[in-house]
Amino acid sequence: MGTVVIHCEWLLTMAEGEEPIHDAYIKIVDDKIAAVGPWQETVADAATEVLEARTKLVMPGLVNTHTHAAMVLLRSLGDDYPLYAWLKEKIWPREAKLTAEDVYHGTRLAISEMLRSGTTTFADQYFFMDEVARAVDEGGIRAVLSRGLLGSDAEVETKLEEAIEQAKRWKGKAEGRITAMLGPHAPYTLTPSAMRQIVTTARHYQLPLHIHVAETRDELEEIGKNYGKRPIAYLVDQGVFSRPVLLAHGVWLDEGEISFLAKQKVAVAHNPSSNLKLASGIAPVLQLQKAGVLVSLGTDGAASNNRLDMFTELRTASLLHKVTNQDPTAIPAETALRMATINGARALGLGDQIGSLEPGKKADLIMVDLDQSHLTPCFNPVSLMVYAARGSDVSDVMVNGQWLVKERKMVKWDESEIRSAAARTAWDLFRR
Ligand SMILES: [Zn+2]
Repeated sequence: MGTVVIHCEWLLTMAEGEEPIHDAYIKIVDDKIAAVGPWQETVADAATEVLEARTKLVMPGLVNTHTHAAMVLLRSLGDDYPLYAWLKEKIWPREAKLTAEDVYHGTRLAISEMLRSGTTTFADQYFFMDEVARAVDEGGIRAVLSRGLLGSDAEVETKLEEAIEQAKRWKGKAEGRITAMLGPHAPYTLTPSAMRQIVTTARHYQLPLHIHVAETRDELEEIGKNYGKRPIAYLVDQGVFSRPVLLAHGVWLDEGEISFLAKQKVAVAHNPSSNLKLASGIAPVLQLQKAGVLVSLGTDGAASNNRLDMFTELRTASLLHKVTNQDPTAIPAETALRMATINGARALGLGDQIGSLEPGKKADLIMVDLDQSHLTPCFNPVSLMVYAARGSDVSDVMVNGQWLVKERKMVKWDESEIRSAAARTAWDLFRR
């Protein structure tokens, strides 16, 4: 792969306490970052490739910590419904008809959308996960995969075996870009015994858990009715928090639960657009952050967003919590950008490998084209990225030292072929 040096207008390393660097460089050797700093002529010596990018900003690739990639196939199919009705009437009947090949085509489309809008790592919870892994392997992106576990105890047992086999199979594959978690879907889609079985298995194989919790008020009512408890207390009983947990949503949490999550070092994946669209509620993100909970960002599936654009989530998260708290200083730009980069990496257990541009870390980075009306002038590159930039401003993407997007074109894939294959698949599924 050799040595690549990028000479850029701005470099946001997102390393602890580091300011944006103007007229900067980043040096990549093979799949890793070798050096960053203010530009000097000598750094280009001995480089295989020197990229003059004085109209661009370089920053870490964005980390989408909660999605269901192949749900892009259901985009715009069942909008404007509440979560339970949406799942039961619109989503689950279609998902029951999905084939492995459908999931492959859907995931390729999702990966294309994510890469083109600056996401370099995503955490996926779905099914036919071998096909998801195949798309990840071919596409060059990084992913944390969990087979969704839900249904009757017998179904869960079979799915759990499948999940473990997959985790073993993926280990070290795709140049180490794939890692695994176990994915108990939610408190309301599993019995207590199935939940305990998943926890026992996760402990045995040393796997973290990726689970939807406290997403809607309906969930609170259902768990309350069935078990006489709130979702967190119910999950404590099943031993869920004895494992590292990536908790998606966490909209309906009280003060005691927030300090419990902080104590347990649970990471919360906040999905502002999905929560807004399904009117699930507003997650207490400021309170979580004040308590010391690691909060990352996610898009959720494209059926409930309907974008997989992390720039939208950055902006939405920041704006949403300002108005909710009647405080314009809430979630400042720097915090929002950390949520989408280094916090996301930490939430996925990858904080020592990605999420910031520091020597020794994997070269997962994006370049944003600053030479545009809506990004002019640039007094503060961080706030520009959060409040003014869009996913479509991303011009170049590198994952694991490999260029996957160059000048807005995918390097490994023919995007129009992927788009038409996915559209064909979606219409076929619709008519099935
Ligand atoms: Zn979800």
